[in-house]
Amino acid sequence: MESNKKITIIGAGISGLIAAIELEKLGFNPIVIEATDRVGGRVKTDIVDEFQLDHGFQVLLEAYPKAKKYLNYKTLELQKLIPGAVIYKNRETTLIGDPLRDFSLLVPTILANVGSIKDKLAIFKLNLELKNKSLEAIFDSEQVSTLQYLRDKGFSERIIKNFFKPFFSDIFLETDLRTSSAMFQFTYKMFGEGLAVIPKDGIQAIPNQLKSQLTKTVFRFNTRVKTVEEGCIVLEDDSVITSDIIVIATDASKILGLEKPVVWKSCDNLYFEVEQNTLKKPIIGLLANNDSLINNIFYTTSVANNNKSKGHLLSVTIVKSHNLGETNLISQVKSELKNNCGIIAGRFVKRYRIKKALPDLERVDYKGNEDNFKFSETIYLAGDTQLNGSLNAAMTSGEAVAKLIAERFK
Ligand SMILES: Cc1cc2nc3c(=O)[nH]c(=O)nc-3n(C[C@H](O)[C@H](O)[C@H](O)COP(=O)(O)OP(=O)(O)OC[C@H]3O[C@@H](n4cnc5c(N)ncnc54)[C@H](O)[C@@H]3O)c2cc1C
Repeated sequence: MESNKKITIIGAGISGLIAAIELEKLGFNPIVIEATDRVGGRVKTDIVDEFQLDHGFQVLLEAYPKAKKYLNYKTLELQKLIPGAVIYKNRETTLIGDPLRDFSLLVPTILANVGSIKDKLAIFKLNLELKNKSLEAIFDSEQVSTLQYLRDKGFSERIIKNFFKPFFSDIFLETDLRTSSAMFQFTYKMFGEGLAVIPKDGIQAIPNQLKSQLTKTVFRFNTRVKTVEEGCIVLEDDSVITSDIIVIATDASKILGLEKPVVWKSCDNLYFEVEQNTLKKPIIGLLANNDSLINNIFYTTSVANNNKSKGHLLSVTIVKSHNLGETNLISQVKSELKNNCGIIAGRFVKRYRIKKALPDLERVDYKGNEDNFKFSETIYLAGDTQLNGSLNAAMTSGEAVAKLIAERFK
């Protein structure tokens, strides 16, 4: 291995960090150029007014194969969410969930009127089918929209509207369920095989732990790359860095001047201080009314955390597009919380408007091949944009790029 070769990774998100970990294992000393002041990319946590705020509500699915490989779950002190959801509709509250994993959800799930007996049977069949289907087979099968897939599986419009739409709008960050059926089956299977968890220190603990595995990588933070050509990186201040290999671990369309830019899905995430936690337990709340702007809520203080503040904090996610200014948005959200969920939101703490939250991909891949990751002999592409919008995919892409580079220098 020609480990003296200079390898530069652009982007210190999850994919860039995994690429660096794998390249170090191969004997390289990578350089990471990152536009912001720290690692994590889309996986960041801020401390605001003594509260820990994640940049957008996100969870780690314990069952992700690459997360199991690269993360030490114990030291992350993962906090478990209840495998279910509380659905708010027409001022009524319904608790649904997986009774096999949380017995307290058994009776409410049987009584829940979000779907019919036929729907419950269809869920049972889907669980069984996906349990026996490998992740590779899921991504190899025909891809249609999630909505089409659910209809083909015999689910009623009622359960689609009352459960699948609000639940998967939060995951796909779009409200029409037009995202590929492979992505639906993948996330559904992952939810079925492990819990959704959040590290005690916030989601940023994930990239921080990955960074702590690096001993030879050099980071250049607060440095933005403008363009990349073979062997040459131009920074925003027009200075030039040469490199034998360049890994672009972020949306490469602008950097490479590609004709077809990546299309992104966006979301809004608002945090409010609240007097009490109306749900008591760590469970996601979904708003199923057609006219509600809010998609989901979660009391971030319902799991162990390192907040210095003793108050309760509510995270509110909005997926639907809107043109409201911040003041109007806050008052609309407060009024929806009160009218639909009976929650009196107190002090507004912060808003994250995330324009590039998830790549909007027509077709998604699980592992991909050289075509997904190799742009030229010296330029490689990593990131969830190359496979599918998930932490698992970001990790897979970083690993795959390092493997291709290793093959090149063997
Ligand atoms: C609100 C939200 C909720 C999500 N929920 C989940 C979830 O529950 N489960 C899940 O699995 N996934 C979730 N995701 C997706 C997951 O966070 C991403 O798939 C993953 O973090 C992508 O990592 P990445 O390395 O591909 O890209 P990024 O995290 O985007 O990293 C790219 C890095 O490159 C840097 N960069 C960009 N341009 C330049 C430049 N010109 N020069 C230098 N540096 C540059 C950026 O600053 C960034 O640090 C969610 C994402 C969001 C935003």
